Amino acid sequence: MELELSWRVRPGRECRNWWCREDRVARMVKSREGKDGHVTQCLRCATTQSKLWRKANPDRARATKRGWYRRNRRKVLDRNAAYRNRDPEAYRLWLKSYWAANPERMRQAQQVRRARKANATVERFKDTEIFERDGYVCYICTRLTDPSSPPHTPLRTVLEHRIPLKRGGDHSRANCATACWECNSHKGQMTDTEFLALIAF
Ligand SMILES: [Zn+2]
Ligand SMILES: [Zn+2]
Repeated sequence: MELELSWRVRPGRECRNWWCREDRVARMVKSREGKDGHVTQCLRCATTQSKLWRKANPDRARATKRGWYRRNRRKVLDRNAAYRNRDPEAYRLWLKSYWAANPERMRQAQQVRRARKANATVERFKDTEIFERDGYVCYICTRLTDPSSPPHTPLRTVLEHRIPLKRGGDHSRANCATACWECNSHKGQMTDTEFLALIAF
């Protein structure tokens, strides 16, 4: 006589989570190691679980993601290139709308790219972190800057490198400060000390 141990009439088929009644093989997580080529957890439960795990372990999740990217970089780049080449015009439009929707990420990417080009040490942070730290006050003229004022207008909030990247400064929180566009453009490639000495009277 066979004992029925649980409601699982087909062991290894149902999702392992007791509250979940998914039993369609096609909905299980595929795995080469698992029995019959799948593990006993459904895709929905696995997705929810990994989402919760990532939320609880953000640093480890980031490390895992980075590791994966490092191993699969070539593949990702090739796939992106194929996508770009399939319909360049559509890609350009998508890119444009993406950057318009994520201006903060665009600025961060530009800053990191510029810093890399200048062989500077790169710390990862958003410029808004620095702006908030400095209270949106320009460290040179002490005026209150305005992040919503259009680019290339005097009071526009910009991220300033006290020692310019091209002169060996780092893209770090310590070397970055909030400035108005006007001061930033006058300062050019001078260091903060040089510029402040020049405008002092
Ligand atoms: Zn499930
Ligand atoms: Zn200023």
